[in-house]
Amino acid sequence: MAEYLSCVHTHTEFCDGKSSMEEMVLAALEMNYKSLGFSPHSPLPYENDWAMKKEDLPAYFAEHARLKRLYGDRIDLLCGIEWDEESTDLPDGLDYVIGSVHSFSKRGIHFSVDYSKDLLARVVKEGYDGDFLALCADYYELLCTQGAKKQVDILGHFDLFFKYNKDGCFIDENDPRYLALAFKAADELVLARPDLYFEINVGGMARAGRPYPYPAPAVLCRLKERGARFVLTGDCHSVEQLKRGYGAVDVSFLDRLSGSLYLLDGRGFVLF
Ligand SMILES: [Zn+2]
Ligand SMILES: [Zn+2]
Repeated sequence: MAEYLSCVHTHTEFCDGKSSMEEMVLAALEMNYKSLGFSPHSPLPYENDWAMKKEDLPAYFAEHARLKRLYGDRIDLLCGIEWDEESTDLPDGLDYVIGSVHSFSKRGIHFSVDYSKDLLARVVKEGYDGDFLALCADYYELLCTQGAKKQVDILGHFDLFFKYNKDGCFIDENDPRYLALAFKAADELVLARPDLYFEINVGGMARAGRPYPYPAPAVLCRLKERGARFVLTGDCHSVEQLKRGYGAVDVSFLDRLSGSLYLLDGRGFVLF
């Protein structure tokens, strides 16, 4: 397996991560990473326990600048954000933006697709009459809206709603009706944004026992066929997760997919 030397999807104590930014930098140095990008969850207009607070933005930028001064000669430290579809504004001065959908309001309810399996099951039952496919359709509509925004550099975890789909308990991931929806979203996004990077996110493999990254293999292949570009990330929420690196998850399929190893672009993304 290739040696992957960057992660640009990283959460710290500024949102729902468990480690400080400096602890993450030290871990990345220990792992010989060439670059590390921070991507706190963008501030949200409602009460929650996982996104960065708007008033913490100046401290976040200041800490990034301090760490860059301290460690910048040894590692490329990037200041990014994971911009949620529900966040109203986007701060200036970022190195890059990951555009993601986590939660949304549909059918009279507001919910997150990655908060807990119980919540998701309740939403599907009560809000969608058991129709998980309809939830996927709503999610993809928002994902396409988010990915079309020119400020977005990387599209985050394409099919995040699979997080709790262990053994297909919500849906068969190869159901042709599902794949038709997913391919439509993939095609639309590549067409609208040929410059967009699609994230290959192994965070669900490390933290939620997913057998493969987001997006699932069929969609990854579709995106590849359409000429999409990819960036590999760990969606790391702690030093421990960062230190496990990419070696703890089987990413050998990437070599089959791309036939090549990696290339670090000018902004510190490991590309496929
Ligand atoms: Zn996310
Ligand atoms: Zn994230």
